[in-house]
Amino acid sequence: MLHTRVKRVLYLVVGLPGSSRLTVGKQLAEDVDGIVVTLDTIGGSVLKLAVYLRDTLGSATKPAVVVGTFGTRVQRSLILSAGKLHNYAVRCIWVRRPIHECQVTVLRDMFGHRGWVALQASDLKDLETRREEEVDVETLLTLNRLFEPPEETEGFSRVSIIDAPSPAWHPAVYTHRALFMDLDGTLVVSGTGQPLYFPDKMKETLTAFVNSGYKLYCVSNQSWIADGRKTEEEVRALFEQFLKTLGTPELPMRLYLCPHTRYPLQCYCRKPQVGLIVPLLERNLIDPQASLLVGDATEDATLARRLGIPFQHASTFWQSTRGPLQPAPRV
Ligand SMILES: [Zn+2]
Repeated sequence: MLHTRVKRVLYLVVGLPGSSRLTVGKQLAEDVDGIVVTLDTIGGSVLKLAVYLRDTLGSATKPAVVVGTFGTRVQRSLILSAGKLHNYAVRCIWVRRPIHECQVTVLRDMFGHRGWVALQASDLKDLETRREEEVDVETLLTLNRLFEPPEETEGFSRVSIIDAPSPAWHPAVYTHRALFMDLDGTLVVSGTGQPLYFPDKMKETLTAFVNSGYKLYCVSNQSWIADGRKTEEEVRALFEQFLKTLGTPELPMRLYLCPHTRYPLQCYCRKPQVGLIVPLLERNLIDPQASLLVGDATEDATLARRLGIPFQHASTFWQSTRGPLQPAPRV
């Protein structure tokens, strides 16, 4: 009788940060009674991790489940070589998720881990312990751009693809709703504190939402600050002036702004990136699907779509909520 020796298997779970690769890897390790190995646990670099595997796979008693980005053939070849050296079959599992969903998950994960999100690379620099999942927006976009889908021709015994489900906000946990308003061209004449419409009508509309249980937020790109044309204090003062003109400085609306440059993109907070809103959803347990985002620009519509928030154009919003409004007279 012929005995074919069954090859031992090394698992390589690849995907972008925020793809849920670690969740998949942990589940797989449980299924095969294996051990999860990541750059966070071993080495800190792909090369060091490969050396670790080369040194330990020969005497390993449990299957290793290696989890990380491993977006390039070259990186994966290092793991493949270590496996083949010890006559392992190397299986690759690609956890696939669109980049914008990865961004949402990276930020939610950061918030869950730290209670705040790093909007820029500089916010991450000083962290004592930084996990591989915690990446800045430029790194995430670069990893995505350089990502080469894994193929069996690289030397894997098998490549399988898992499509990660879209991020969800469980309505039993995220029980609140919010009205997210853009600022320039939605609430005020662009760059000023002057209301776009009759102040009493605007106040009436916004108050109606508050009385219906909506939390009220203003989310705004203010690259004027990065350009040096306005200071953040000036922008905030104009916003306060707007609220005051509405006759109710205590209208519970806070301004969340991105002060960074338009190009190159270097932050998670510039709309349509999701970094201004994700922390609000998480901190205040807001259900995006039960909320509303109002704006006048494509970036507002895109942002809303990325988070599953219903979107309404500003002109439609101001008309549909309280009947046609007349533009406010110029001051
Ligand atoms: Zn920003």
